[in-house]
Amino acid sequence: MIKKRIYSPGPVDVSPYTSLEMAKPIMHHRTKEFEAVVADVVQGLKYVFQTEGDVLVFASSGTGAMEGAVVNTLNPGDKAICVVGGKFGERWSQLVSRFGGVPVDITVQWGQAVDPKVIAAKLDADPSIKAVYLQASETSTGVAHPVKAVADIVRKRKDTLLVVDGITAVGVMNMPTDEWGLDIVVGGSQKAWRLPPGLAFASVSAKAWGFVERCKQPRYYFDWAKEKKNLAKNTTAYTPAVSLMVGLAQVLGEIRAEGLDSLFARSASYAQAFRAAMKALGMDLFAPGSPSDSITAVLAPEGIDSGAIVKHLAAKYGITIAGGQDHAKGKIFRVSHMGYLDALDMVPAVAAVEMTLKELGHPVDLGAGVRAAQEVLVGA
Ligand SMILES: *Cc1c(COP(=O)(O)O)cnc(C)c1O
Repeated sequence: MIKKRIYSPGPVDVSPYTSLEMAKPIMHHRTKEFEAVVADVVQGLKYVFQTEGDVLVFASSGTGAMEGAVVNTLNPGDKAICVVGGKFGERWSQLVSRFGGVPVDITVQWGQAVDPKVIAAKLDADPSIKAVYLQASETSTGVAHPVKAVADIVRKRKDTLLVVDGITAVGVMNMPTDEWGLDIVVGGSQKAWRLPPGLAFASVSAKAWGFVERCKQPRYYFDWAKEKKNLAKNTTAYTPAVSLMVGLAQVLGEIRAEGLDSLFARSASYAQAFRAAMKALGMDLFAPGSPSDSITAVLAPEGIDSGAIVKHLAAKYGITIAGGQDHAKGKIFRVSHMGYLDALDMVPAVAAVEMTLKELGHPVDLGAGVRAAQEVLVGA
């Protein structure tokens, strides 16, 4: 028997408490009972997004909320800066061009964070740019982009929106939506929310609603103004993902009971422990300068294909992690710190990486990574 453990950057592990809630008999969505779930979820989402503004929920994967951010605010012909330093940055650029916008790509080397000064210079040079799209945590590279510094630049401009893909950031890293002035922040259930795939979230500022009113793009399911009206009545425009909403209510209850400060500190300590472990094993991080706390991307040792590490972990130890994409394929492996995980869960992940490297013929001082991780976790 092999016990399955999932450390992939989505989907993540779901707690049995959440699974049991979701296994209860299904309720009908046009009932008082479900309206109470919606009301609860909306309040909980505002707490986690740290906003007094609206947070919308859709039955889609995270990309649905990314698409919604574009079709509700960007008119055909509008220019939009897209920070492209990985697969998900590319997605912003593709969405903008697919809907008739003009992406102004700021290309960043994979593994590095964007320099906010470059964004400021582009906006100064062309004040007609209507939006800046970026990732808070670029899951394909393990980079955390400097969202606050970018927000300080964008919030001064009344004709430019800041749209943040927070799919692997909201619920892991502190990103206070209102305090920083983030116009749209997108989330997805199977990443930082300890839920199965199928829900997408979007917070929308007052400034962003002004853009929504002026936006002429056709949209139907992802019509944000319509969804806002329905949520105000504790219902949804179309059939919601009832079971996932019930699971979300459970997770939000847990998060509120724990408190955001503890959640962020805990997540950061897992990431620090894992990074320390990988360094102790002599490996380099792919994003050493600005690492995300939700996921760590590690460069495989010289001569070892990172895909072989991913395969071996799954086959021998039942551990799911992710490899690299595109030109990082074969070079990096990625381990998530999101989901139903606690501090001790970092230890088997590190131990399995050590054993895997040794079994793949790489010299490893067994226990060196585990010790480094424990030292961080003991101090945390
Ligand atoms: C996973 C992910 C997405 C895409 O989300 P889906 O749920 O697969 O549509 C977008 N952005 C980031 C940063 C992600 O990690």
